Amino acid sequence: MIKFDQVTKKYKDDFVALEDISLEIKEGEFVSIVGQSGAGKSTLLRLVYAEEMPTAGAVYFNEKSLDSISRRKLPFHRRNIGTVFQDFKLLPKKTAFENVAYALEACGAPKNEILEDVPQILEIVGLGEKMEKFPHELSGGEQQRVAMARALIHKPLVIVADEPTGNLDPVSSAEIVELLLKINNLGTTVLLASHDKDIVNKAAKRVVVLERGKIIADDAKGKYKIS
Ligand code: ADP
Repeated sequence: MIKFDQVTKKYKDDFVALEDISLEIKEGEFVSIVGQSGAGKSTLLRLVYAEEMPTAGAVYFNEKSLDSISRRKLPFHRRNIGTVFQDFKLLPKKTAFENVAYALEACGAPKNEILEDVPQILEIVGLGEKMEKFPHELSGGEQQRVAMARALIHKPLVIVADEPTGNLDPVSSAEIVELLLKINNLGTTVLLASHDKDIVNKAAKRVVVLERGKIIADDAKGKYKIS
């Protein structure tokens, strides 16, 4: 479903963030991308949702090179991919319901669809009872669940989570990983970037280890061994 073919990504001043990455991710997989800060994890994920383009090589999504998608059509590609970040990026003056609904309104969804889908997805992430709460009335873990609901509302094929537990305590972090596993069980491909050993070991799925822009390990049922 996602394929990196000899991908190198350089930023300004020829700084090499990723070097010669070849990687295949199949539909329905759960892949943890691990490595120290600066290893290139975020860059790899940004290439998947086409926020960045490779300097060399190509990234394919369902056999289509992302390079070949016109700027006008990129939003359609991005709709296949739900994103979750360390900072939850919620709108502070909107309730949990409104934060998720907003993502649907923005692409012109009809009201009845919004009224049906939003509570359903908030129920899935365990926030059925807290739909009318504002972000400041929710814990960090709950706010991240709202962000997950928002990422899922377009029924994406892939969820890309970049350090989703970076601002959370260990208990909330474990709950977020459980939620990612649940979403994966429902059929969504999951790409999780994290430098948190406990989180990755809890997922107990395929682990790709990055070090200074290179893949140094790729284990099917890996554990994050770097201390
Ligand atoms: P990680 O997510 O593993 O912490 P990143 O992908 O964020 O790593 O960064 C990899 C390297 O690329 C880092 O050294 C970082 O400083 C550099 N980098 C990331 N984004 C940019 C950018 N927009 N411009 C220049 N350098 C960047």
